[in-house]
Amino acid sequence: MAWDFETDPEFQAKLDWMDMFVREKVEPLDLAFPGNVEPYNRKNPTYKKVTAPLKEEVRKQGLWACHLGADLGGPGFGQVKLGLMNEILGRSAWAPNVFGCQAPDSGNAEILAHYGSDAQKAKYLKPLLDGEIVSCFSMTEPHAGADPREFKCRAWKEGNEWVVDGEKYFSSHADFADFIIAMVITDPDVPVHQGASMVLIPGDAPGIEILRNVGIGGEPLGEGHHPHLRYNRVRIPEENLLGGPGQAFAIAQTRLGGGRIHHAMRTVAGVKSALKMMCERVLSRRTQGEQLARKQMVQEKIADSFMELEQFRLLVMYAAWHIDKGHKAEARTYIAMVKVQMAKVLHDVVYRALHLHGALGCSNEMPLMKMWTGVPVMGIADGPTEVHKVTIAKAVLKQYEPYEGLWPNEFLPTRVEEARAQFAEYLEHEVGNQ
Ligand SMILES: Cc1cc2nc3c(=O)[nH]c(=O)nc-3n(C[C@H](O)[C@H](O)[C@H](O)COP(=O)(O)OP(=O)(O)OC[C@H]3O[C@@H](n4cnc5c(N)ncnc54)[C@H](O)[C@@H]3O)c2cc1C
Repeated sequence: MAWDFETDPEFQAKLDWMDMFVREKVEPLDLAFPGNVEPYNRKNPTYKKVTAPLKEEVRKQGLWACHLGADLGGPGFGQVKLGLMNEILGRSAWAPNVFGCQAPDSGNAEILAHYGSDAQKAKYLKPLLDGEIVSCFSMTEPHAGADPREFKCRAWKEGNEWVVDGEKYFSSHADFADFIIAMVITDPDVPVHQGASMVLIPGDAPGIEILRNVGIGGEPLGEGHHPHLRYNRVRIPEENLLGGPGQAFAIAQTRLGGGRIHHAMRTVAGVKSALKMMCERVLSRRTQGEQLARKQMVQEKIADSFMELEQFRLLVMYAAWHIDKGHKAEARTYIAMVKVQMAKVLHDVVYRALHLHGALGCSNEMPLMKMWTGVPVMGIADGPTEVHKVTIAKAVLKQYEPYEGLWPNEFLPTRVEEARAQFAEYLEHEVGNQ
């Protein structure tokens, strides 16, 4: 059995090209066109013009849509290689878009690929994969996010149409999406795991009402792109129910597992950037007659940050490896683990980097405060930390059995007695020799 931490030279050459290309041609987009939503706005003629030649270069390198298998027009590298690539792409908000692997479109494309009809694939999947249109995933409701048993948004059949009615919250990009994949209750009389379904709603369907454009903290009120919206008896053709009634949970797993680990892979990049800023700062700054880097409390911060980064990175790669190997149960547990860890590691390392930059770290002249606002998002989006910890704990507990009787299996009096019985002959001899 091999334990191999090496990248083959051919793939390393691709990574080296990506590293150079992202640094020289993509990261400047983050500075010239800042903002959370700009990279996703594919209708803006300036952004289209600026990104078109970059996307072309990516395609020429065979790196477009690198999360997808060959059947869907991607190179099919698998998750381990994708992990290494995302460690580069995660440095820039624009990079995933320039490489055609941005969330939430990546997960929505997977749903359409698995469950869409030929007509839906032609209308939505192809332009989505080509980076021409934008999609939205609409699941969370204003009163319930982490627990779908509380969902109320419903759909029922009238003739050969489904009628969708109810509210959704934080449906990212619904305000400009070309299509929405929404989770709706189609049978309220059975448990939600059997009664929830997934539907495809065109972005311009009559009856979609944006109640408020919610933003992330710091964005001006009313100017965000995570709408609270209402489906007012929106009518969609019956074939827009994806995968069959009651299939929503299975379908959601298709996208959420991938989405979570891809966020974690990109978070490795963010943590690496924070560590780089931290190290450069303490090597450059002097206080009390010496470099900051010579202070032991500073060194502790560097050491802790590096260890946490490396532990997290290895965990992400191990989760990716489980996916590539088709180990479904392990992949589920390890994805939950990286989902939990990403918020914590980002929190700890970005905070130390920010702190070591003093006032400059708190200012709007370094990227650290913006990274800091991303920390709570990582702990909430795609499900809060606690829910994923429950998944992990259940998987771990499955590996163990309760002990019988009053005393634990490791109860020393019992174990010593058994061990003594096992070696009685020799113990008697020892006693005899004394
Ligand atoms: C930037 C961003 C983008 C998002 N984009 C989308 C999107 O495109 N589509 C979409 O549908 N949703 C989206 N969401 C919503 C996200 O998926 C939900 O916010 C998330 O599932 C949590 O739901 P909630 O906000 O209702 O929190 P709640 O479910 O109310 O949970 C709040 C808190 O309660 C506690 N809690 C909850 N459950 C448990 C439990 N079982 N045990 C212990 N404590 C618990 C936790 O501390 C949790 O953080 C996005 C969120 C963010 C921040």
